[in-house]
Amino acid sequence: MAGNIVVGCWDCDYCGADRIRGDIRVCPNCGKPRGKDVRFYMAGPKEYVKDPETVDKDPDWLCSFCDTLNPASAKFCSSCGASHEDSELNYFQNKEKQEREKREEEERRKAAQNGHSGAAAARPERSGSSTLRRNLFLAAALVAVIALIFSMMPRKQKIHVDSRTWERTVTVEKYRQVQENGWTIPGGAENVTSREEVYGYDRVLDHYEWVSYQVAEQVLDGYDTYVTYEDLGNGYFEEVEHSSPRYRTEYRTETRQEPVYVDIPVYRTKYYYSVMRWLYDREEKAQGADSEPYYPDLRLPDTERISGRTEQYWIISGSDRYSISYELWQQIETGSDIEVKTRQGQIEELE
Ligand SMILES: [Zn+2]
Ligand SMILES: [Zn+2]
Repeated sequence: MAGNIVVGCWDCDYCGADRIRGDIRVCPNCGKPRGKDVRFYMAGPKEYVKDPETVDKDPDWLCSFCDTLNPASAKFCSSCGASHEDSELNYFQNKEKQEREKREEEERRKAAQNGHSGAAAARPERSGSSTLRRNLFLAAALVAVIALIFSMMPRKQKIHVDSRTWERTVTVEKYRQVQENGWTIPGGAENVTSREEVYGYDRVLDHYEWVSYQVAEQVLDGYDTYVTYEDLGNGYFEEVEHSSPRYRTEYRTETRQEPVYVDIPVYRTKYYYSVMRWLYDREEKAQGADSEPYYPDLRLPDTERISGRTEQYWIISGSDRYSISYELWQQIETGSDIEVKTRQGQIEELE
């Protein structure tokens, strides 16, 4: 698509004349041809070229001998007559070169500046208060961990043994008749009755139902258009049209069939019966403050039995009570002074 061509302007570097038309190659004020520092721009009301086909779209070339900008079609420089072939840069390449040189110059200048103040460069200051807050938090966490470890650590202690106490316990079970129920009958069950009860549910398809739902769709609504102007590098600018599609969201209702299920109860025969079971009945304890611990002496009938035994031993010192193993407890005499290792109220070792 051949776009419209707009006539641009340029300023004369020698005499300062500005807004010289892009189709004029020599300054009307001082007579100098446009040279390497000329920059084309657009200003004022747009003037379109009547017949855009006649405009050469190639950029001017820069004469490397006298810095004159010449039209792309010219084989020789209009100022000095040098050949186009002996010059390397066009308008854009020259602009690129100038910008590169400007950047390099800027970097050199910065490097020189840093070299001056480099040694004295101040380090950026850390925010002091946030560091302090973090350190305080870490210190508090550390103290908590140390306190925990300390309470877990064995401690050496001197203890006067006021007394030694013990407690032994047996757990007694009783053979009893209990009422139970279930889907099967266990051996030894008596007085069995039964009835039909709900065992579970079967999920069964009952029917289908129409359900409506919304569907979102992006629909083309139109085009947004705008134009940009491309520098041709020879005093002219080409108008370029752009367009981008614009969409809107539309909703439509659709329907579909969804299954509806029902839960159908499943019945089975459930049995109710009485049956004999060994069940927890009670605990029997024996306690003492002497050196001869024993389990309670039980005369149990056939319908009772012992299902478990536990034993505990303590050293009493003033108002403190320490739990201790039977082996260590045996070695300690009432009225003696002992040195022990304790951990959380328990004596672990004799010294
Ligand atoms: Zn001039
Ligand atoms: Zn020249």
